[in-house]
Amino acid sequence: MLDAYDPTNVIELGMGNEEEEPTPEVKKFIKLVKAPEKTLYEGSDISLLKVVARLTNLKYEFNLPHRAIDGIASLMKAMCPNDNEMTANFYETKRLLSGLELPHHKIHVCPNGCMLFWKDAGELKKCTVCGAERWFMRKTVRGKKIPKF
Ligand SMILES: [Zn+2]
Repeated sequence: MLDAYDPTNVIELGMGNEEEEPTPEVKKFIKLVKAPEKTLYEGSDISLLKVVARLTNLKYEFNLPHRAIDGIASLMKAMCPNDNEMTANFYETKRLLSGLELPHHKIHVCPNGCMLFWKDAGELKKCTVCGAERWFMRKTVRGKKIPKF
């Protein structure tokens, strides 16, 4: 998800009238937004969002091939108790993070998985929890900054 990004689009979430029944896309989004509270497995201190955000961040930071992420994810899953939420491979990891996208609305995640950059935090440049930069500072596409995800 390293495409060019216009920060003005971030918080235009089409949540619509409160009285209306949310569309399936909005429902899916709301469910995923609650992912920061969803832990890797029962009794774990780490959230699923944190795990997948950090794993994805490592991929892009070190330019790891998909197969490396598959291997790491598979190892991590094997290390968890049987009843866990860990993604089994890069495809699932990416799919979970890309679930945070509604049509025309991208929600960015702290590279360490602490928080989502949306609603009141939609314009923030740094994570309020760990202070991580939202952007790849050195890379730009056609003069635009690139979000980590
Ligand atoms: Zn953070």
